[in-house]
Amino acid sequence: MNILNIIEKKRDKKELSKDEIEFFIKEYTAGNIPDYQASALIMAIYLNGMNSRETSDLTMAMANSGETLDLSDISDIIIDKHSTGGVGDKITIILMPIIAALGIPVAKMSGRGLGFTGGTADKLESIPGYKVDLSIEEFKQNVKDIGISLITSSLNLAPADKKIYALRDTISCVSSIPLIASSIMSKKIAAGANKILIDLTCGSGAFMKNILSAIILAKTMVKIGNNLNKEVRCVLTNMDEPVGKAVGNQLEIIEAVNALKGNMPKDVEEITYALAEQILLMAGKATTQEEANLLIKETISSGKAFEKFKELVKKQGGDVSYIEDLSKFKNAKYIVPVPAKRSGTVVKIKTESIGKTSSFIGAGRINKTDKIDYEAGIIINKKINDYAKKDEPIAYIYTNQENKVEEAIKQIQDSFVLLNIKRIKRRTVIQTIK
Ligand code: URA
Repeated sequence: MNILNIIEKKRDKKELSKDEIEFFIKEYTAGNIPDYQASALIMAIYLNGMNSRETSDLTMAMANSGETLDLSDISDIIIDKHSTGGVGDKITIILMPIIAALGIPVAKMSGRGLGFTGGTADKLESIPGYKVDLSIEEFKQNVKDIGISLITSSLNLAPADKKIYALRDTISCVSSIPLIASSIMSKKIAAGANKILIDLTCGSGAFMKNILSAIILAKTMVKIGNNLNKEVRCVLTNMDEPVGKAVGNQLEIIEAVNALKGNMPKDVEEITYALAEQILLMAGKATTQEEANLLIKETISSGKAFEKFKELVKKQGGDVSYIEDLSKFKNAKYIVPVPAKRSGTVVKIKTESIGKTSSFIGAGRINKTDKIDYEAGIIINKKINDYAKKDEPIAYIYTNQENKVEEAIKQIQDSFVLLNIKRIKRRTVIQTIK
């Protein structure tokens, strides 16, 4: 087998065999195929697509390209939740303790933030003492002991995906459905999941900007799941504005803790319930959505979800007193209101720009090695269809860098569009595809 024939086949719109796909993934991961030939093949896939069988084979080849995690000693049903990302997305931190409190084991690995999106691991690290870098043995033991562990991965999961993703980024080939679908699914499969729930965000703060392409991506991932004997469900959620009000690590933890105590902003509540309901249905803990909904409500109102989160924090070395008394979190030095430039209704929030401003004032990373400031972030005071009078705060900036304040105010003002009309708001939970 040689890479030239494989490139030629895809260039000429022919189907690749399983062996050819495996050959490419194995040899490229091992460094035996140069980037220029891999680029040619990736571009051919981008232009000519892949059918469902090829996409499933690509997924499995990437999932098996490095270490894999076997969680079968914990349970037969290993459910993983993945979000395609966004701004202010603290849903994992709220959802997972609810699920664990309902008796479904949660063994979840999450990433760090980069660019305009935050990462669950960074958010958890803003709790003093919380350790995200546990060994796999400790991770599994925690799930066995208390039913939940949330960490970052120390394993070399799906290295082929890391290499191909980095390459796609440099050759304008990110937005390809088979490449995105196989990238997401390969990581979940390598992490040991047999039931996968995807929060597929779409809108101005998400990777998928429009609903139609999100639906095609969702259907592709469900089909890959069918082909590989894994149950996959996708919940399409709106990312036309930040999720909830808080953007930034410590601010999001505070919002998540309040949510676990039952005080959820409406959009956070809708997303959390929609995802939790699907997980309960997949795990066989409920037979209808209504039944699932009641179970979730009870778990929150009885305080069990909050208790489970405290148990998790304690087990991973975090100082629970911060969770019990949120006023212990030290505020950023400068808390500055962002005045509305005119009176009107908020019709648009450039969500990606809000994420970038949050990074700019210290909450995120531009480069992988940047240090982040846990106290930095933004509180959104006006969401879509809220009315603001001129000079009323549309947001608040939390930062320790006084020199960034003026520029951040300008960036946030430019991210808000205020007009004298109301817009028809997209539903927060758009559709479930299974
Ligand atoms: N998220 C991923 O993990 N991979 C992609 O290709 C796109 C989004």
